[in-house]
Amino acid sequence: MPDFVLAPPAIASVAVAGWAERFAVRRIFCVGRNYAAHARELGNDERDPPFFFTKPADAVVDSGAVIPYPPLTANLHHEIELVVAIGEAGFRIPRAEALAHVWGYGVGVDLTRRDLQDQAKKAARPWDWSKAFDLSAPCGPLIPVAKSGHPEKGRIWLAINGEVRQDGDLAELIWPIADVVSICSEAVELQPGDLIFTGTPAGVGAVQPGDRITGGVDGVGAIEVTIGQPQR
Ligand code: MN
Repeated sequence: MPDFVLAPPAIASVAVAGWAERFAVRRIFCVGRNYAAHARELGNDERDPPFFFTKPADAVVDSGAVIPYPPLTANLHHEIELVVAIGEAGFRIPRAEALAHVWGYGVGVDLTRRDLQDQAKKAARPWDWSKAFDLSAPCGPLIPVAKSGHPEKGRIWLAINGEVRQDGDLAELIWPIADVVSICSEAVELQPGDLIFTGTPAGVGAVQPGDRITGGVDGVGAIEVTIGQPQR
């Protein structure tokens, strides 16, 4: 280990259900759109190939957190997503081998400053400020593949203050998990610790300070976070 001029930052990590050990997070990749009904609700062609954006590893935050309403937005949106946790490195992974690189799964919320995203799209600017802000990637406890298997179908849902807003099924994924992992690995060499948020079903919408977000994926797990007052 080299010496550092400042203390190295803490390693970002996610809880593992039923384990004391945590899953160290290396990078966070997110699929831009992956459910036909959500692609349509945002006015996009559902046949487009998947594309990716990223969030910093330390955007991840555990289930149970209170997340201050972020700056620069008046339209913070929730997007419930199945999260894939990569356990084995791979570059240009063939589709048929892709699932062997998955360590486990989780349930995440891709928090999005939708107004900044709309501005970025119009101006053909990067999405970073709309997607990659502090605490923008809450993720519930991971479940290892040995327990969950590789989910192909199952309800994926999100509620605000107990009222269901997003209600889909993994069977609606335009690009199933193996495709997402394989296609992502064409752009980068995937590494243990990488998380992939796999896209959100229809029903995205705004959240306000004080809102309690709950969600889950059948057979995978659940998440619960509260949106707090803006940081002062
Ligand atoms: Mn998303």
